[in-house]
Amino acid sequence: MSDKVLVLHTGGTIGMVDTPSGCAPVAGALAPLIDSIVAGSRGELPPIEFMEIDPLIDSANATPDTWCEIAGILYAHRAEYAGFVVLHGTDTMAYTSSALSFLLPEFGRPVVVTGSQIPITRVRSDGRQNLVGALQVAARCDVPEVSLLFGEVLLRGNRATKIDASGLDAFESPRYPALARIAVDIDVNASVIRQPQDAPGLIQGHLGGVAAVQLFPGFSASILGNVCRPPLQGLVLEAYGTGNGPSNDREFLAAIEAAVAQDIVVVVVTQCVRGSVRPGAYEAGSALMRAGAVPGFDMTSEAALTKLAVLLGQGLEAAAVAEMMQHDLAGELSR
Ligand code: ASP
Repeated sequence: MSDKVLVLHTGGTIGMVDTPSGCAPVAGALAPLIDSIVAGSRGELPPIEFMEIDPLIDSANATPDTWCEIAGILYAHRAEYAGFVVLHGTDTMAYTSSALSFLLPEFGRPVVVTGSQIPITRVRSDGRQNLVGALQVAARCDVPEVSLLFGEVLLRGNRATKIDASGLDAFESPRYPALARIAVDIDVNASVIRQPQDAPGLIQGHLGGVAAVQLFPGFSASILGNVCRPPLQGLVLEAYGTGNGPSNDREFLAAIEAAVAQDIVVVVVTQCVRGSVRPGAYEAGSALMRAGAVPGFDMTSEAALTKLAVLLGQGLEAAAVAEMMQHDLAGELSR
């Protein structure tokens, strides 16, 4: 097999330049720079081919169509490359890395999503280090899953979350060990890497209509009722602690029941950074389940939302999706 890596540039700070209204991506600006980094590495970096989407975006503008476009490109070129690096903005990087893990089941090649907090053209940029680490993982490490490399860690893509708006170690996966430490050496923790369990696939088509809502004391049931209307098909409810909500609020529970009766899949995740939803631990959590919600256990909100969108987009029945949301598909959930 080729030892070449495909670098797919989608936008984000790493390739941005200053404009009068702030940093923005510019087509064609990054390729020569990356070529010179690879050429100057004297074989320490793999040969690459470079591709960029049109238009490049600030990842705040990413949509499910962006995820599908990236997945389609990676799948189409799967056989030609040893691995893939996706350059992406940090703002929604964890959504994209989660979505790719569901859109590209059992991909069987490293897909390393990375970017930077400082444009690569600036002298103190973190972009060069992140890029170099991502290229080395993509070409030379046995990490055949969608991962996210940032700062000193390589994380599972569907376990990662952005935890820092400006720090250079901007991502963590608080509920799953890092796949590798990016330090003097790249130390892969082979025991936590997910190997493909089936033939590779590509999920195509539109994704389902989903939303995420965070509970807070005083949350109004009528807001929930207004959210749970067509075209909504799936709702991620970011609940308290082990998956609790206002169990003495009849209107709130009725809004969940009404949503479920309309075949809206309601998945409960926790607002906490660590830990898992534990159905039955508290009456205030059981009430949500009795109303028809299902536990998302230790999934991040990003993973739950993108998984729900991908499953619902496949035209499966709500009951089947609700069941699949409680089981691991791509390493996103432990129970
Ligand atoms: N707004 C930028 C983006 O997500 C931030 C970044 O890349 O760090 O595209």
